[in-house]
Amino acid sequence: MKYSKEIIEKYYNYSAKDLNDNGICPTCFNRATNGHVFGDESKLRIYTDKDIDCLLTGNPRAPGHMMIATIDHYHDLSEAPDYINEKIIRFTKQFMIFIKEIYGCERVYLCSMCDGPMNHYHVQLIPRYKNEERGSKNFVKPRQEYVFDETKLNMLKDRIKNYVETHK
Ligand SMILES: [Zn+2]
Repeated sequence: MKYSKEIIEKYYNYSAKDLNDNGICPTCFNRATNGHVFGDESKLRIYTDKDIDCLLTGNPRAPGHMMIATIDHYHDLSEAPDYINEKIIRFTKQFMIFIKEIYGCERVYLCSMCDGPMNHYHVQLIPRYKNEERGSKNFVKPRQEYVFDETKLNMLKDRIKNYVETHK
């Protein structure tokens, strides 16, 4: 979604929930305002191109929790072109491998919430560690403080860059 200067000014100080309730996509609004809603995401970014944006989550449910969002606005995967959905699944597979390897978790859960009137299509990859109980409660583990780990972030970046370069 592209938002005009007037819309941006009008809703500038709204929370993500209030934007959503007023028919404004918080993700698109955040991009249009250089991070006014969710803060500066540049330190969380693992990979981006013309189709997708891959980020570590700023308030993770477990270390290594990340998301893949589309660049263009789609409500959910039913609206996105097949090639985007296929790409997201291919990247999800790679990130599952990389997150297990780099963070040492046992499993990586995949979910895509599409709630709210102005959802922006994204998938979440949530690690479950060996000491954590199995099951669906992993999808709603308490949010934690994001701990910046440059080494792990750079490893994720290197792995996905290598994947992209070898799968053109
Ligand atoms: Zn959007």
